[in-house]
Amino acid sequence: MKPNPSLGATRSCPHCQTTILQRATVCPACRHILRFDAIKPASNGSKPVAAAPSVPTSEPFRIESTLRQPEDGAGYEYCLIVVVTNDRGEELTRKVISVGSLKPSESRTFTVWVEAYGDGAVKSNGNGRLLDEPAHS
Ligand SMILES: [Zn+2]
Repeated sequence: MKPNPSLGATRSCPHCQTTILQRATVCPACRHILRFDAIKPASNGSKPVAAAPSVPTSEPFRIESTLRQPEDGAGYEYCLIVVVTNDRGEELTRKVISVGSLKPSESRTFTVWVEAYGDGAVKSNGNGRLLDEPAHS
């Protein structure tokens, strides 16, 4: 199968400046509608509504974990980092997504996933690992 010549084409979202896939009809970061083909007329003839966003071909992985600070905890700070590497281990992207802190009894849930688009098959190699078990109160 020949690769699609526009594979990997990107652009900046005009609303939030995030780099997104050229094919996006709705910005995955700010959720603004970006192309008119993302709009469809309402069936009852009233104001047009946003069509369903372009659906990913697959979601090769999704990770979700909740960190909870116990009632008697001293609190802690966190930093959510996402790193993307190629098949040679070279970093393509490293982003600090969020920083914050947890006071006693507070929790935060972190969810990271990959949406894949295209005709070819893609799969996770299943080597995901949770380095620390989340604290349960
Ligand atoms: Zn945006």
